Amino acid sequence: MVMNRSEDAVQEASSGYMTDERRMIQEVARDFTMKEVLPVANELDPVQGDIPMELREKMGEMGYFGIRIPGEYGGLGLGVFEYCLIAEELARGWMSVASIIARAGGVMGVVGWPLEKRIELTKKAAKGEYLAAVALSEPDAGSDLANVSCRAVLDGDEWVITGSKYWCTFADGADYIQVLCRVDSDKKSRGRGLRSFVVEKNRGELPANVHGSPIPKIGYFGWKTYELAFDECRIPKENIIGGEETEGFKSTVSGLEVARAHTAARAIGLARGALEDAMAYAQERVQFGQPISDFQETRFKLARMASEIEAARQLMYFVATEADNRRRLDKEAAMVKWFAAEMAERVTSDALQILGGAGYTKLHAVERYWRDARLTKIFEGTSEIQLRIISDRLLGRPTNRQRQS
Ligand SMILES: Cc1cc2nc3c(=O)[nH]c(=O)nc-3n(C[C@H](O)[C@H](O)[C@H](O)COP(=O)(O)OP(=O)(O)OC[C@H]3O[C@@H](n4cnc5c(N)ncnc54)[C@H](O)[C@@H]3O)c2cc1C
Repeated sequence: MVMNRSEDAVQEASSGYMTDERRMIQEVARDFTMKEVLPVANELDPVQGDIPMELREKMGEMGYFGIRIPGEYGGLGLGVFEYCLIAEELARGWMSVASIIARAGGVMGVVGWPLEKRIELTKKAAKGEYLAAVALSEPDAGSDLANVSCRAVLDGDEWVITGSKYWCTFADGADYIQVLCRVDSDKKSRGRGLRSFVVEKNRGELPANVHGSPIPKIGYFGWKTYELAFDECRIPKENIIGGEETEGFKSTVSGLEVARAHTAARAIGLARGALEDAMAYAQERVQFGQPISDFQETRFKLARMASEIEAARQLMYFVATEADNRRRLDKEAAMVKWFAAEMAERVTSDALQILGGAGYTKLHAVERYWRDARLTKIFEGTSEIQLRIISDRLLGRPTNRQRQS
């Protein structure tokens, strides 16, 4: 294949991870992003519009909601590697589009529901027709998730949920909200007293007895992020994930490893979008009678950006492969999440610098990549929490934290 210089610069190094099938998956997702996602993002992000239903339907047809869902349940039956590969491509267009693919397929764990119902809903999820919002965080429980205080109390055949949730993205557009609640009255039990529940709802509405409003965030447009008040919201007794004995905190935290690889993929996609745009701009923009890409400072900046992206990508490929091989990877997942997020902030900021004043406008997508990259250091566990996980694995817990859960 003959590549021009720009393509060559942004093409990841050939690695043992890539097969012909994976290259094809990547190329199809790249083509889909440039044709279907990027133009929509450029139009709607500046006006804080939601991801259009038409785009969600097209993503459903591509199978992007069911990448990891087994074939017999309507999914593509692929692994974490392909999931990350596609997420990188989608994030190159719009981060929220790369994020929404993570909102499908969580209901097989609702063991109190008949198997047929779980399979039917998983098949819908694979098409993007049954999607979740996730309500873990609260005003006083962010990094310290074990401090959740939203209560679920069993009353006959129903759980009654009361309390506040914060930062619930997609609370309005989802088909259900997965809510992490405390089921005992003793906060000292920390994570052991938590369970996850499924609160079903109509699309476009909040559930009955749940009130809330969007938080005025500075990016991650395409969907809204809510503060929510649950006021005796009643759900059937069966709507508990993993049954009453499964600790909600542990199952939430174990799911975060794949989520962190996926966040790294999103950060890499954003950084790549910024790099590609900066390269194109630098070759067109003329100052002092020459393209600014002829200035060594610009060239070296681009070289550093491309190198950092590639380093993050190779670590992501490794982590995704380990996840597919079901190896323990909490440290490595934290490493790639931390590294990719920090890298994305630096790279998108350098891209903005290359565009000069044009970068500081809504006329170029680089400002979107920069704003969205900033978030990757905060959600799915902040950069500091990733460093805590890594350093705890290297050194053991510090003595003043050894007895905490
Ligand atoms: C746009 C957006 C969308 C989100 N979407 C969702 C969602 O859909 N569902 C959901 O449940 N949550 C969501 N979140 C919440 C997100 O996961 C939290 O913001 C994140 O976990 C951090 O919690 P916090 O904001 O309360 O910060 P805090 O935990 O208050 O942290 C503040 C600062 O203190 C530092 N810090 C805290 N503890 C430690 C420690 N032990 N060691 C060192 N430093 C520490 C942090 O790193 C950070 O720098 C979203 C957040 C944003 C901004």
